[in-house]
Amino acid sequence: MNFTYVSLPTRVVFGAGSIRSLAAEVERLGARRVLLISTPGRAQMVRGVAQGLAVAGVFDRAVMHTPVAVVEAARDEARRVNADCCVTVGGGSTIGFGKAIALSSSLPVVAVPTTYSGSEMTTIWGVSEGGAKKTGRDPKVLPRAVIYDPELTLGLPVAVSAASGMNAIAHCAEALYAHDGNPIVSLMAEEGIRALASALPGIVSKPKDAEARSEALYGAWLAGMTISTTSVALHHKLCHVLGGFGLPHAETHSIVLPHAMRYNRDAAPEAMARIRSALNTSDAATGLFDLEKKLGIPMRLADIGMKEADLERAARIAVEAPYPNPRKVEYEPVLALLRDAYEGRRPS
Ligand code: NAD
Repeated sequence: MNFTYVSLPTRVVFGAGSIRSLAAEVERLGARRVLLISTPGRAQMVRGVAQGLAVAGVFDRAVMHTPVAVVEAARDEARRVNADCCVTVGGGSTIGFGKAIALSSSLPVVAVPTTYSGSEMTTIWGVSEGGAKKTGRDPKVLPRAVIYDPELTLGLPVAVSAASGMNAIAHCAEALYAHDGNPIVSLMAEEGIRALASALPGIVSKPKDAEARSEALYGAWLAGMTISTTSVALHHKLCHVLGGFGLPHAETHSIVLPHAMRYNRDAAPEAMARIRSALNTSDAATGLFDLEKKLGIPMRLADIGMKEADLERAARIAVEAPYPNPRKVEYEPVLALLRDAYEGRRPS
């Protein structure tokens, strides 16, 4: 065995009610002037959790895709209130704003994730401008502390929960065959898939099930850990390309995932065995497809805004500069994958 394992220095506080340690976590960083960040939809929740916190300002205008104009407004606000720390309460979109501020100012970020995107565990930032998303990795943007409180996720709509959970499973699945993977990350990836696949159906049937919510958040944490230090492959490449066509992030991930696993099936037998074992199924691709059907989420790219006429262009972009992938990334089979995802065919 030859491998390199990197661990990132984030402190994690996990559990129902753990949000009550937010003020203490901020104090540990020596911060006294917090900028709270949320989407407009989470603004009330944020004010609720901020009790006892030294709040200097609130920026509740976070939106999807971290557009540069809104990022600049958030950075201005951080400067205006002389913030010495950002606290993000929300999903990947909100965390993206904390990271964007940290990127230009080195302000520490405390993240309180309320979806399963996993962004809180990574050094990956992204800012979009003119329809294109610029991304990079920088240790500055890694949250110093992350508070996972499942109670804050009880109201996460079922459809968002399911798609976001599948997004997290996608992180785990690709970590299992990453060219720079390692046995430690694979342990986390397999356990992440197991936790999410067992929790999500429970959340769909009973959205306020505290145990299922806790299990899903635990899986999301593991999923974030897996992409924090290993590379992603064809599946994530396709989702980035489709994101450029304006498709929603988590839903795109969930729709493409079974087809990407089918594409890589014969080239990554060990990863597939671990996914099968985590799902307790006989085939990784169909196991994921059937799980998604059970969750009632969109199964066809056609249903989330993809135009059939754009499939060929998407396939061409995906093969032009592919990420390292266990199976060679070639135009015809990638186009066939996209057509299957467009039509929502069960992988065979
Ligand atoms: P999101 O943050 O856009 O949230 C989805 C929706 O859920 C929003 O409308 C939000 O207001 C709502 N919501 C969030 N928490 C809620 C709660 N507790 N109750 C009710 N509603 C709630 O979606 P997401 O899938 O978490 O994040 C997607 C974004 O994250 C994308 O831009 C993606 O690029 C980014 N991302 C980044 C990384 C990284 O490592 N940098 C990893 C994964 C995703």
